[in-house]
Amino acid sequence: MNSLIEQLSNSLVTVKNVANTTNDDSQNLIEWYFNNHPWSSMECPCCGKIMYRKKFFGQKHPIMVGAHVEILDIDLFKGQQYIIPLCEECNNKKDNLQPFKIKVGYLKVAPHST
Ligand SMILES: [Zn+2]
Repeated sequence: MNSLIEQLSNSLVTVKNVANTTNDDSQNLIEWYFNNHPWSSMECPCCGKIMYRKKFFGQKHPIMVGAHVEILDIDLFKGQQYIIPLCEECNNKKDNLQPFKIKVGYLKVAPHST
């Protein structure tokens, strides 16, 4: 039987890419996100393409970056930014990227920018 935490982390929320940040730190953010965990590929939660971490796979494949998003469908969480893995192509669409659904478990509270 799934624990409540597992059930919650598998719930879907709608998120929107936040475009107010520079893309320069998106590579650092994805390494921060995984915190040296060797997990190196996953499906882009937006377009479904398999994306890879540049650190391990260079530029040959869709590159995974750390993207800032906001949750749209829960008022309580508005104003808070989260980091998720996203392919570079989707992240580069910035404000033009349509909102999409992602499992809560993928969201990490964004580090405060200095
Ligand atoms: Zn994508």
